[in-house]
Amino acid sequence: MSRANNPQLKSWVDVNSSCDFPIQNLPFGVFKTTNRTPRAGVAIGEYILDLSVIADAGLFNAIPFEKNVFAKDVLNWFIALGKPVTNAVRERISDLLNVENAELSANADLKLKALVKQNDAQMLMPVFIPNYTDFYSSKEHATNVGIMFRDPANALLPNWKHLPVGYHGRASSIVVSGTPIHRPKGQTKVDDAPAPSFGPCKLLDFELEMAFITGKSTELGTSVSTAKADDYIFGLVLFNDWSARDIQKWEYVPLGPFLAKNFGSTVSPWIVTLEALEPFKVESPKQEPEVLPYLKFDGKKNLDINLEVEIVPENGKGKIVSQSNFKYMYWNMAQQLAHHTSNGCNIQIGDLYASGTISGPTPDSYGSMLEISWQGKNPIQMPDGTERKFILDNDTVVIRGFCEKDGVRIGFGECSGKILPAL
Ligand code: MN
Repeated sequence: MSRANNPQLKSWVDVNSSCDFPIQNLPFGVFKTTNRTPRAGVAIGEYILDLSVIADAGLFNAIPFEKNVFAKDVLNWFIALGKPVTNAVRERISDLLNVENAELSANADLKLKALVKQNDAQMLMPVFIPNYTDFYSSKEHATNVGIMFRDPANALLPNWKHLPVGYHGRASSIVVSGTPIHRPKGQTKVDDAPAPSFGPCKLLDFELEMAFITGKSTELGTSVSTAKADDYIFGLVLFNDWSARDIQKWEYVPLGPFLAKNFGSTVSPWIVTLEALEPFKVESPKQEPEVLPYLKFDGKKNLDINLEVEIVPENGKGKIVSQSNFKYMYWNMAQQLAHHTSNGCNIQIGDLYASGTISGPTPDSYGSMLEISWQGKNPIQMPDGTERKFILDNDTVVIRGFCEKDGVRIGFGECSGKILPAL
């Protein structure tokens, strides 16, 4: 395990115990301020360490790489340097922020230039995403949807336990946390109507997901094994796969999701590296029946990440509507990547692979309003006396996630998006 993960490490930057960004995390993101152009940074406590400033000061000189990668408006160039470099940079940042290291902490001028308050910065999309795939890897979610829309006795389709089902999504409409999204319009048809109609979506939903971002490409025709998958995963973000249920219901046959999904998806701004998450790896759920050889794997491949979803009405008090965990996933990231490339499909740097809705075993851990309200039959009571079956105009949906172990809390920050009325 990386020495940057040592639970004993302390930073000279104040980090309170409920903060997502202790010295053991060091997630990468892209930010700008009124006088700083878009650039790479690392979150520490309530601050961002400006990596361009650190590079210009020569503090990364012991690691050979082209230092202008930090002055770019996306992390793709940095990620493309590969794990030997990106991990060395993470370890170096850990040293520079360590309470026992004076290189940066004792240099008052440089410190002032290098640390930016998160409150004074605007977070931007951390990567350019060439390709986006969404899986469907939670057994509880797939079962709930199968019960609602097909047959309670055969909720999972025959292929589900043999391969990680997925579809190719739309990369162009993925936005960073804080970006509002207009309610989509589309074609829908209620069951007893003779014909479809066009208008604003009436059943707008969130999907609680996580996503991994790849940091290494493959050649067309080659495959990634489950054993090598971690080498290709740079890090993870929170992901909200906004979904228009009424549009989805009418359009999805026979080719799957299309306009019900591609009007917008939201990511959290900080990419937490797979290395920072290493201490939180846990056993995967048992897979029965046995999977084919190319989907078998060794070791701990699931991650214990606490997740929650809050709905916040405009000018109102929010309500936590779901508390789930990434560890429930039936198909893990290594299997998803192995399956995705099993036919020779090539991986690109910055690709985003989302988990699918992460539902747990109990109703309070379901990852979508479709399941929480059970198609609208069980509305959620909000603190202001209103109720929610789905998401209303001017509601903000906030996803949060964190791991906790040995007194160290590693978090993802927020994945937040406000729904504006249809245009
Ligand atoms: Mn989804």
